[in-house]
Amino acid sequence: MANQRAEDHAAQERLKIKSTGLMKKIMKRYYFQAKMAHWLRKKVAWITSGGPVEPLLAMNVIPIYPENHGAMIGATKMGGALCETSEAMGYSRDLCSYARADIACSIVKGGPIGGLPRPDFLVCCNNICGTVIKWYEIQARFYQVPLFIFDTPFNHAEMSPAAKRYVQRQMQEYIEFLERVCRKKFNEAKFQEVGLRSIQAQRLWQQVLDCCAHQPAPMSAFDAFFHLALIVTLRGTKVVIDYYSQLLDEMRQRIEQNISAVPNEKVRLLWDNIPIWYRTRWLSDKFSQHNACLVADTYTSAWSGVVHLIDENHLLDSMAVAYSSIHLNVSIDQMFQKIAALAQKYHVDGVVMHSNRSCKPYSFGQYDLQNMITQRLNLPVLIIEADMADERNFSESQIETRIDAFMEIFE
Ligand code: SF4
Repeated sequence: MANQRAEDHAAQERLKIKSTGLMKKIMKRYYFQAKMAHWLRKKVAWITSGGPVEPLLAMNVIPIYPENHGAMIGATKMGGALCETSEAMGYSRDLCSYARADIACSIVKGGPIGGLPRPDFLVCCNNICGTVIKWYEIQARFYQVPLFIFDTPFNHAEMSPAAKRYVQRQMQEYIEFLERVCRKKFNEAKFQEVGLRSIQAQRLWQQVLDCCAHQPAPMSAFDAFFHLALIVTLRGTKVVIDYYSQLLDEMRQRIEQNISAVPNEKVRLLWDNIPIWYRTRWLSDKFSQHNACLVADTYTSAWSGVVHLIDENHLLDSMAVAYSSIHLNVSIDQMFQKIAALAQKYHVDGVVMHSNRSCKPYSFGQYDLQNMITQRLNLPVLIIEADMADERNFSESQIETRIDAFMEIFE
């Protein structure tokens, strides 16, 4: 009995990704430094997850991502209570749960880290959605700090030359804004350094994700959701390059040693939309019970998906175009092309879509995508309805029944 327990424990330990501990330490240090920013004589800027962060780092500003904080709130199951607080303030339950939780957090200083550090200014890029504009306006009024809005036109097809000029001009205005609020000249040399590191980090992150094309996959999308935090929060810094280099080595070793995320991988699936943060473990176990591994997703790949558009010799201009071309700022046809490419690259057998009550730009159009995937790719699609951070919108019995029924297709 004791021997069996020891063997089970050893098997569990073998499956664990060893870099995880380091990642937690880096994130703790990042938030600690951000909270101490004013002691360190640094400014703090809140920025949307798809916003151009590299100019901030070049100005020695600490970027903070309320959406990453929203994911932490979701993962710690604090979303429901915080959302209720904002609803009591008059915000509709139909609004994004990241926005609701963040607005409430500023008032009650709640959440897993007792609220975010006070911002000196805000940077909002609407390449992910329109909600962020109102959300950041509310926070700019609350903290009485300046707000820069970087407006990216939606890409129905190819980005027009006029649209490119429009976003490139805004990049210049963004630099002028930073010079005003930081009261110093923009550091071109540092920006070049940060920009090149950001490109390198995005390429490394893509290489980590690419390891999952191997059959069986050395990690699952649920692991990728966790390891994503650094490319979101710290891209452009050296620590990210070191971390993803280590993670990539670990993934390659796992492939060599035949260590897979799901020990008896038989079905390979693709995930669409933001994770259901408070249920990632439950979902991972649920799919594993069916010997199914989520080997790819449209979410984590968004932070490396436009790196090919960045020209190292024209960083500012090309970044403006790249940031305007991310997954949520493109048409359904382009989203489908991305899903089709991922399905082929990672050899998937089916697609799981999270119809996310919070995130309209990600979720509107999923039923059209479902039709396109089943008709053109001949892949089955499961749609589950939930919310990324508000756990009140998750029905375990309903979702369990749907997953079980879907998995019967592969038996
Ligand atoms: S609506 Fe979606 S894209 Fe917009 S902030 Fe919320 S989660 Fe992010």
